[in-house]
Amino acid sequence: MYCQNFQIVHQEVPGELSLCFSISGCKLRCSGCHSPFLWKEKQGLLLTKERLLNKLKTYQDYASCLLFMGGEWHESELVEYLRMGKKMGYKTCLYTGEDCISDTIRKELTWLKTGRWIPKLGGLDATTTNQKFIEVATNKTQNKLFIKPKQNDTTI
Ligand code: SF4
Repeated sequence: MYCQNFQIVHQEVPGELSLCFSISGCKLRCSGCHSPFLWKEKQGLLLTKERLLNKLKTYQDYASCLLFMGGEWHESELVEYLRMGKKMGYKTCLYTGEDCISDTIRKELTWLKTGRWIPKLGGLDATTTNQKFIEVATNKTQNKLFIKPKQNDTTI
């Protein structure tokens, strides 16, 4: 699979510093998509095992989570890469626009974000959102981790 973008991020998985790989070839075509550059397959750099391993090794003492933005359409590769991360002590997360994914992928994940982007409903930090941030082990939706406290709330 091809990776269009690699970043180290801290907001997508609350409490974790994540190595974030954005995978090209998303077929969902959400209206208002923030990343249309991910729609076309084979854009960016081929994410080989060696390239992934290199990043996992480089940031092993620094980052704590391996995060894929998409890539569920390359199931066997994605599963293999998630396993590589887990083996090296990383937690794992997938952001997908689908509402559900295969059990084969799911069982390699610590967290899963589901749901396509619908602008009028907002993202994970909106109470109206259709998206879910799920702790896989408990199957609990944990969107509350994204809700910012009210600015003028001085109650203790
Ligand atoms: S799932 Fe994400 S990348 Fe894919 S079309 Fe929707 S917003 Fe864009």
